[in-house]
Amino acid sequence: MNDYLQQLKEILATSKKTVIVTHPNPDGDAFGSTLAWKLFLEKMGTYACIVSPTNYTKNFKWLPAYDSILSFEDESQRAIAEKHIAAAEVIYCLDFNAITRLDKLSPAIQQAKAAKVMIDHHQSPEDFAAITFSNTSYAATCELIYDIICGLGEEAKIDEAIAQNLYTGLTTDTGFFAFSNTTANVHKVAGGLLNKGVSPEYIQDKVFNIFREERLRYYGYCFLNKLHICHEGKVAYMSVNREEAKRFHLQPGDNESLVNFPFKVEGIMVSVLFTEEQEKVKISFRSKGKIDVNAFARKHFEGGGHVNAAGGKSLLSLTDTEAKFLQEVKTLFA
Ligand code: 5GP
Ligand code: MN
Repeated sequence: MNDYLQQLKEILATSKKTVIVTHPNPDGDAFGSTLAWKLFLEKMGTYACIVSPTNYTKNFKWLPAYDSILSFEDESQRAIAEKHIAAAEVIYCLDFNAITRLDKLSPAIQQAKAAKVMIDHHQSPEDFAAITFSNTSYAATCELIYDIICGLGEEAKIDEAIAQNLYTGLTTDTGFFAFSNTTANVHKVAGGLLNKGVSPEYIQDKVFNIFREERLRYYGYCFLNKLHICHEGKVAYMSVNREEAKRFHLQPGDNESLVNFPFKVEGIMVSVLFTEEQEKVKISFRSKGKIDVNAFARKHFEGGGHVNAAGGKSLLSLTDTEAKFLQEVKTLFA
C-alpha cells in the first residue's frame, strides 16, 4: 500500500478538480465513504463533486454534506455531473470495483480522460484504475478511507463531520459490529472516530429509528404475508412486487435492512429479498458463516459483493426468478 500512498499523495498535491462516484442505490458505506472523502479532499484544497448513478434514498439526509450529491438519473443534475466528469483530472471510484456496476453512468466514466483511483473492499476487483486500493479484509470502504487518510499522515484533517460519515459506513457494513467482517481493526478505527467526537448513540438512532410509520407497517406486512421458509428451515426469502411497492408508497432505500430480519428465526442460514423494479428484479442475498452468496450471485444472477452479503439482478419475471433461485439454492449448501 505504501507505493500507492505515495502515488496518491502526488495526485492529491496536483489535482484541483475531481469527481467521486459510487454504486447505484448507495448504502451507508457508499454515502459515508464518498462524503468523507469529499470533505477530506476539500480540506486538501481539491474540489470534489459526488455523482450517484441513480436517485438515492433520503434516509441518510442527516449526513454532513449529503445535499451536495448529484443523481445521474435526474436530467438536470446529469447535465451538471457530465460537465464535472469531463473537466475532472481524477475520478475516485468508491465502494465498487467494476465500471459496469455504474449502469447508465458507466460510459461517461469509461470515456472520461481523468485518471481513476479505486478505493474498495469487494471481492474480485477489475483492473480499470490507475491506482487500486482494494482490500477484501476490510469490512467497509469507510474503514479503508480512514487508514488511507492516516497513512497519508493527514489524520489531523479528520474532523467531526468526516468522522460521522466514516462511522456511519463502518457501522452499517458491519451491522453495528455484529457481522463476521468485524475485526480488531474495525474496532480500532471506530475508537479513532470516537476520539474525533462521534456520538455512537446519535448515529445508531439516525440509522435505525427513522422509519415512516408506513414503512414499519410494510415490514410487518412482509413478515406476515411474504416470508417463505424452506430448505429444512435454513433458507428464508421474500418477494415484493411493484403493486405492493406502490401500495405502501415505498421510497428508495425502504427495503434496506428488510433482508436481515429473517435471521431472527433460529436456524436461518440464508436470507434473500427479491424486489420487482421497472426493468428488472433486484436481489439481495445474505448468509451466515461459510455459505458464499457472492459466488452464487455471480454465477446465477449477474451480481456479486461479499461472501455473506451480495446483490444481483434478473430479467425474468418475479415468479420465474424465485423459481430459478429455488432450483439452484441447494448448491449453496453443497
Ligand atoms: P445489497 O443487497 O445491500 O444491495 O448489496 C449487498 C452487497 O452486494 C453490497 O456490498 C453491494 O455493493 C453488493 N452488490 C449489490 N448488488 C450488486 C451487483 O449487482 N453486482 C455486484 N458486483 N455487487 C452487488
Ligand atoms: Mn461497502
